[in-house]
Amino acid sequence: MSFSSMALSQKLISLLSELGYLAPTPIQAQAIPVILAGKDIMAGAQTGTGKTAAFALPILQKLSDNLMTGSEAGDAVHPKPVQALILTPTRELALQVYQSFGKYGKDSGLDTAIVYGGVSIDAQADTLKAGVDILVATPGRLLDHLRRGSLTLKQLSFLVFDEADRMLDMGFKDEIDAILRKVPAQRQTLLFSATFAPSVFALSKRLLREPELIEVDKRNTVAAKVEQLVYAVDADRKSELICHLAKSKQWQQVLIFCRKKVGADQLAAKMSQSGIKAQAFHGDLSQAAREKVLQQFKLGDIQVLVATDVAARGLDVEELKVVVNYELPFIAEDYIHRIGRTGRAGNAGQAITLYCEDDALLLEEIEALLDARLPQQWLPGFEPDLTKLAPVARKNSKAAQRQRAKRRASGGKKPGARR
Ligand code: AMP
Repeated sequence: MSFSSMALSQKLISLLSELGYLAPTPIQAQAIPVILAGKDIMAGAQTGTGKTAAFALPILQKLSDNLMTGSEAGDAVHPKPVQALILTPTRELALQVYQSFGKYGKDSGLDTAIVYGGVSIDAQADTLKAGVDILVATPGRLLDHLRRGSLTLKQLSFLVFDEADRMLDMGFKDEIDAILRKVPAQRQTLLFSATFAPSVFALSKRLLREPELIEVDKRNTVAAKVEQLVYAVDADRKSELICHLAKSKQWQQVLIFCRKKVGADQLAAKMSQSGIKAQAFHGDLSQAAREKVLQQFKLGDIQVLVATDVAARGLDVEELKVVVNYELPFIAEDYIHRIGRTGRAGNAGQAITLYCEDDALLLEEIEALLDARLPQQWLPGFEPDLTKLAPVARKNSKAAQRQRAKRRASGGKKPGARR
């Protein structure tokens, strides 16, 4: 399959070749023709698979084929109504999607805007009132604008949910419901989700009409080229180990995940003290501070970003080679999201987990989700102190192994396992 065999315009095909996109990625090959044919889709695609272009290209193509003039589409209050709305769970992902539309749509004649919270609403409202064709938004701030009347969605042709699973995990269900009440029934809806939890299926039933189901990867899998390593270590030696790894492996650009903001702050401070250029990255930073840190990280001025899950969602750093789980996430799916920050667009990556005894159940849930064992290893000098381990909690006890084998054989998940 090539881009030129799809019904894309010559202009877009030339642009893709300028960008060095030699061939469509699997999600693009499957989704673009279906979207161009006007169908709804429900697509399971991990981050880094090229999913943004999979929806951006056909939307740009279809909208520029039917460029609406103000007099055709608008009214006195909203002279140029929004035609495509892309909802994302976080500001970072919104920014990336917005930049992608800028990149792919630079010669389209279409106006794209972005709205997200944490920054002044007035400048955004002015942009919206002037009229935009394509809007990328986080749900909360979009609702604020709808309530203020800065825009109308009455002429919407395309509604895209990017990372729908995360939007629901982050508690945006009420906002989504309120937004859905403002969009026309006649529209094309595209739902993208890294994982398919039952809540995503429930949402899809309400949103989509006879959707085409597109799955480019087995559900709940990680990119094939990501090597997953689990180092067992005592909890009180994790920070020492991470500093050792950063120095001995000469990491230049690493993303480390902590569960809490305070933990991220503490680890970043500890690493800085030992001479590693590290910065915390979480929701307590202002938007301007986040953008600055991200820029420094991308430029290589910061070696290590110590992030929480919410902040790191949507982070797109090209060629990120290593991701570290300093602490495992409480929700198994987050492990997939985290390590999806590496191994993007077919590149090789490494996902390292620092595992301690307390993580036994969390690791077990991740293994059940992946349907794969993640064998633990010890690093010389950092071997766990076995005399401290409570025998019943040992993950590799015969009983635990038997339980796992039984569960796999029945093809089922542990009852009550978090999804
Ligand atoms: P995404 O999954 O949309 O975040 O895209 C991941 C990365 O893949 C981005 O840096 C894109 O610029 C890049 N990309 C998207 N489509 C292609 C393609 N067909 N060929 C090469 N790179 C691509």
